[in-house]
Amino acid sequence: MTSWLIAEDRPAGPASPTRGFPCSPLPSSAGPTSASLLCSIAWQAGASPSCTICPGVTRDRREAPGRLADLSFRIVDTAGLEEAGPEVLEGRMRQQTDRALTEAHVALMLIDARAGVTPLDAHFADLLRKAPIPVILVANKCEGGAGKGGLYEAYGLGLGDPVPLSAEHGEGLGVLYDALRPFHDAHMAEEAKAEADAAYAALLAAGAQARDVGPDGAALDALEPDDIELADGEDNDFAVEAIDPRGERPIQVAIVGRPNTGKSTLINRLLGEERLVTGPEAGVTRDAIAVDWGWGGRRFRLVDTAGLRRKARIENSLEKLMVAETLNAIRLAEVCVLLLDANMVMDRQDLTIARMVVDEGRALVIGVNKWDACTDRGATLQRVADRLESSLAQVRGVPNVTLSALQGRGLDQLMEAVLLVHGRWNRRVSTSRLNRWLQGMLERHPLPLGKHGRRLKIRYATQAKIRPPTFALFMTRPDDLPESYVRYLTSGLREDFDMAGIPIRLLFRATK
Ligand code: GDP
Repeated sequence: MTSWLIAEDRPAGPASPTRGFPCSPLPSSAGPTSASLLCSIAWQAGASPSCTICPGVTRDRREAPGRLADLSFRIVDTAGLEEAGPEVLEGRMRQQTDRALTEAHVALMLIDARAGVTPLDAHFADLLRKAPIPVILVANKCEGGAGKGGLYEAYGLGLGDPVPLSAEHGEGLGVLYDALRPFHDAHMAEEAKAEADAAYAALLAAGAQARDVGPDGAALDALEPDDIELADGEDNDFAVEAIDPRGERPIQVAIVGRPNTGKSTLINRLLGEERLVTGPEAGVTRDAIAVDWGWGGRRFRLVDTAGLRRKARIENSLEKLMVAETLNAIRLAEVCVLLLDANMVMDRQDLTIARMVVDEGRALVIGVNKWDACTDRGATLQRVADRLESSLAQVRGVPNVTLSALQGRGLDQLMEAVLLVHGRWNRRVSTSRLNRWLQGMLERHPLPLGKHGRRLKIRYATQAKIRPPTFALFMTRPDDLPESYVRYLTSGLREDFDMAGIPIRLLFRATK
């Protein structure tokens, strides 16, 4: 009969040999005839091994650390329902599903695309549509484009677009990554906010002991910036890191740009110049590959989508394809090098890609390639600067480097720029420095009046996240804050804390 594996947080009996965790974040198969499988995922910041297989996981344990590119999570899958008779199946299914869903952040429902949608799948989908957490529908066994019928049927389950993949063959994990990433980011942002709220509450409490707090919690107004350090015991740093910051991690770099700007030439050059390459490894999937290499004593990982090299596909227009695949590469990277053709710099497509990088919160470096063949160098650089100024003013200071991938010139400068922006992208500003800075900014340009005629107040700021640097500011009536003031603060942060060219995010939280 159809076997059901349902996520559950208990050590269950021995698993069948087809379960467990292969070197992919998903169990490779749910049994020869199985249709459905539910895995649940709980995000973990950092602490997970680089390989998704966990040698310590025995076959009767169904929980393992998983990793997909830079996403770390705990993945739970459970079995046992196939032994149950049909009469008890539904009750147990519901019970175990409920339990799995309350303990996880995201659920993955797997169907066997080659078997098509079964009545049990449909039933299960009914349960999951009411789930309190996001559900991603995965059509498994789609290797080499198989399972199309089941994939199309799966749209009818009402769980959004199915993700076609082959857990066994490791195909399609890039698409799964894209489906997971927004949920991961939203979760991390929530956590950061919660931490910032707790920090604020702690400060209020500390202020309350030191001074009289008015009914509107005004003690913070009276706090000197230095008190903030004292109030929290030490120079508090509430930054939440979504990604493992361990120093030995390679810096993930993507080379992006429209066709023919020289991306392949550059990649080959970079990999060929230094023979520290550990070889192409199936870093993520067959759709997206990663290659580790060394440069100037630092480790880098080049993330790339196979599609960048597979230049034409019939069903999509070239531009649409380029955008989708570029986005894929951007999301897998920390630093993106946008490669331009020096004889045709910063056209519409170049700008689209630059905006995508910034919108995704990645660090950007602009590489002006084919410098050897550039006919008017001055005009080219002027145009790059003008276009950055007019169209990407929100990230003033993006470094640009001229190079010739063909001749191997300018590569050191390019990699230095990558390191530079990576450092800025990881910038962490201590809460005390940040609040001292904030005081200065507020004095220089006092906040305007809000719509209700009272002056707005920003009471406190803390860096909620790095990569990209994200700051939480606690203030009265954040909705009344003019856009110009937000820009004033953002560009002040960028200048005063050396974050030129980095997308900076501000979160405004309402407080009395
Ligand atoms: P991709 O589509 O971005 O991967 O571009 P390719 O690497 O395939 O390069 C497109 C064309 O530009 C090829 O004919 C390259 O030889 C040429 N090219 C790449 N880099 C340079 C360069 O630095 N100078 C010159 N003159 N040509 C280059």
